[in-house]
Amino acid sequence: MSSDTYAFNADIQQLMSLIINTFYSNKEVFLRELISNASDALDKVRFLSLTDHEVLKADPAMQIRVVPDKTNNTLTVYDTGIGMTREELVKNLGTIAKSGTKAFMEALSSGADISMIGQFGVGFYSAFLVSDKVQVISKHNDEPTQYLWESTAGGTFTVTADDNPNSEKIPRGSKVILYLKDDQLEFLEEKKLTDIIKKHSQFIGFPIELYKEKT
Ligand code: ADP
Ligand code: MG
Repeated sequence: MSSDTYAFNADIQQLMSLIINTFYSNKEVFLRELISNASDALDKVRFLSLTDHEVLKADPAMQIRVVPDKTNNTLTVYDTGIGMTREELVKNLGTIAKSGTKAFMEALSSGADISMIGQFGVGFYSAFLVSDKVQVISKHNDEPTQYLWESTAGGTFTVTADDNPNSEKIPRGSKVILYLKDDQLEFLEEKKLTDIIKKHSQFIGFPIELYKEKT
């Protein structure tokens, strides 16, 4: 399991510090952003499946799961969408410059709300509104193994081939695992999650399954 470390694009780095260090009360939008990414990934695999049935072979399901875990204080958003190759994890989650990054920071400084983040094409980073650490485990049909993206912010992220025979394997798609900050544990509560999903993600075109916390 060799792990490579990458520096975030400078603008993204700045955006992440802003997200982490500025006071915002409307943090719940992170879930809408992650569910929207899950839905986009499912759209992509569904589109490919129209001309090639084989793309669904690894996992016929097209769905989103939201899984709270009070033992580890993690919230996971799991989709059976297109997934990301190793290269895509590096590019899409941190190294590719996006014009929206600067534009969003400028909008914030002139009074825009954090909830507009998705419109600037950087919604993923809203995960850091509620998390100390974020992991993305992703499996794309084009790669033999799944990869683990991980960041605790601070300017860098790592990508590791997750080929340990003991690790849980994803047939296809992505798992975004949020290690919630100590003061954000309300996002493990079933009622809270149900309400946010209803409020912000009611028109998502794939089933969203909210797991019950094991008691
Ligand atoms: P946007 O969704 O507007 O492109 P984001 O910051 O939300 O911006 O996500 C950045 C990119 O990361 C997406 O465009 C996509 O390529 C990739 N991505 C994020 N989440 C997922 C996911 N669950 N499955 C596949 N790709 C994803
Ligand atoms: Mg998005």
